[in-house]
This record gives sequence, C-alpha cells and structure tokens, in this order.
Amino acid sequence: MSVAGLTKQILQAALFYEIWDAMKVTFKHMFHKPMTFQYPREQRTLPDTHRGALALLRYDDHQERCVGCDLCEAACPSRCIKVISSEDPERPLQRFASEFYIDITKCVFCGYCVEACPVNALAMTKVYEFSTHDKRTLLFDKKRLYDIGERHLDDAKKYLYAHNQEKNVEESREYRYYFPQSVLKPTQPPPKHLG
Ligand code: SF4
Ligand code: SF4
Repeated sequence: MSVAGLTKQILQAALFYEIWDAMKVTFKHMFHKPMTFQYPREQRTLPDTHRGALALLRYDDHQERCVGCDLCEAACPSRCIKVISSEDPERPLQRFASEFYIDITKCVFCGYCVEACPVNALAMTKVYEFSTHDKRTLLFDKKRLYDIGERHLDDAKKYLYAHNQEKNVEESREYRYYFPQSVLKPTQPPPKHLG
C-alpha cells in the first residue's frame, strides 16, 4: 500500500470516518417528511380496483341479483365458494341461491368469481379489517355477504366499474388507472367524477 493510502486510512480511523459516513444518511432522513402511515389513526386511500372482502349485491329494488348458477363456485381456484341453489316457488324457473358460503380464510382474492358471475351479483369491497381470534367466523354466509354488500355498495359498484364489469365507458378507465398514493398529499389529480 502507498504512503498516501496508508495515511488516508489512519486519518479515517482517527476521525471515525465510517461512523460519520453512516450518520450522514441518518441526518439526511431527519429532514424528510415521514412516509409512514400511523395506522389505524391514518388510513390509506385505496384504489377502486382494490380486492377486499367479497360481497353479494342486490338490484335497486332490493331483489337479490344472484341466480344460484354456481359459475363463481366453478371458477374459484381455491374451492372456497359453496352455492346451494333452489327454485323460487313464487316465480317458476327463476332460481336463487338459498345458501351461499365463502370461506374467506382460503380466498386468495383473485377476483375470478366476480368475473365469472353473469349478473354481477358478486363484487369486491375495500374492507380488509376482518381479523379475528375465531377462524370459524370467517366462513361468510349469505346473510353476511349481503350485509357487506349493503354497507359497502358504493365501493362494490366502483369495483365493478373499475374492472369494466358493469359498464365499459371512459369513466371506468379513469377508475381503473387512478391510484391515490397518499392520504396526506395526493400525487395525482383525482379523476373528474371524484373531483
Ligand atoms: S376471489 Fe378468487 S379465491 Fe376468493 S372466492 Fe373469488 S375466486 Fe375464490
Ligand atoms: S354469485 Fe353469480 S356466479 Fe355465483 S351463483 Fe350467484 S349468480 Fe351465479
């Protein structure tokens, strides 16, 4: 090693160069605005395409959309949907799901069931806080799925629009590509329909 190199090494050792070098990064970050979300006090704004808890939907006249066709069950790669269909006694040839179960512990949130549904009876919502101590409560039955659908109808409809399931218009594409990146300071202007 040359004399200059050796001198440099001795000086760096004497002045704790590595420590100051590492502290440079720490000091730099002291003046950055924090990017951490203080969950649950602060919640992230989710895009309309977010795949959260599944919901069953009704038409505007409160009629159940689901006709019990089983296509969602057939499309599910996790085999976590069970539909039992029956004929509506008051409307011959009209079928409906008398029982409907989704084992949400097995769901991989792929959205295939929503895509398979011919009447858009299924949709995903932005609900993701359903952790529990009792795994058995995560077997969502028909009542619970319709409850989620009623409470989060707007998000469920936005999901269908965002995935071009319910209608294929310019507005739907805006939903699809809008991804708010921060609840504190949006980095994109919101689409016209949300402005
Ligand atoms: S989102 Fe995917 S895994 Fe979950 S129920 Fe639907 S098809 Fe099955
Ligand atoms: S949710 Fe849709 S795909 Fe599934 S059984 Fe009902 S109508 Fe058929």
